[in-house]
Amino acid sequence: MPLRYVLPILLLVASPALAADRTIYLTFDDGPLNGTSNILDVVQAEQVPVTLFMVGMHAEANAANRALLQRAKSMPLVTIGNHSYSHAYNHYRHFYGDTEGVVADMFRANAVLGLKPAVRARLPGRDVFRLPDYSKDDNSLGLAEAGREDPDYEFVAASGFWLYGWDHEWVHESSGKPVQSVDHLVSEIDHLFAYGHFAKPNKLILLMHDEMFQDAFDGKAKLTALITALRLRHYAFGTIADYD
Ligand SMILES: [Zn+2]
Repeated sequence: MPLRYVLPILLLVASPALAADRTIYLTFDDGPLNGTSNILDVVQAEQVPVTLFMVGMHAEANAANRALLQRAKSMPLVTIGNHSYSHAYNHYRHFYGDTEGVVADMFRANAVLGLKPAVRARLPGRDVFRLPDYSKDDNSLGLAEAGREDPDYEFVAASGFWLYGWDHEWVHESSGKPVQSVDHLVSEIDHLFAYGHFAKPNKLILLMHDEMFQDAFDGKAKLTALITALRLRHYAFGTIADYD
């Protein structure tokens, strides 16, 4: 392309007029857990769409968690996603490679969560995308392991699941306590939109975990502060159904 055409295009891309095209997808993994009710309270108060990738085993653990699932399902702004039944019991290497076992575990979570295809899902411990028009493997895996697990991803996708990874994480300590401050996270997000590469351009899937938002970590205030800060910077919040 001749240079005289490239420069105007670059200016157009950098234009603040396109700020509203920068969309953030808030996703929360591993619930229902302590912290989930605070997330739902904030969703209700702030009217933002979210996706909760839930673990079947957690959803049927006790009456309180079953009630959280029902409350989440009653909220139009909440998309319930499948994050497996067992969460691989956190032994990912053992879990993956047994394709039939992985697919069965995902179906078992569908039954507990009451989900029907096409189900939006996130595999436990894996940043993998398998969408009708987009596919990406987990860059943290070696080639051999990625190759070994690829049939699992493909069979899960072929069984009626749309798999979503993530672009950035609000990290937590093993206790569940968030690592980055809200201000730091927002500056990371600004930087990523300016210089980063996302799975899809101008769409950032933010990974968080329900346990980060429990009262002990001031979860409700922190999540509210994050949403307020991102709104002030004119980011839009997207529904996962509109991601594709
Ligand atoms: Zn998880």
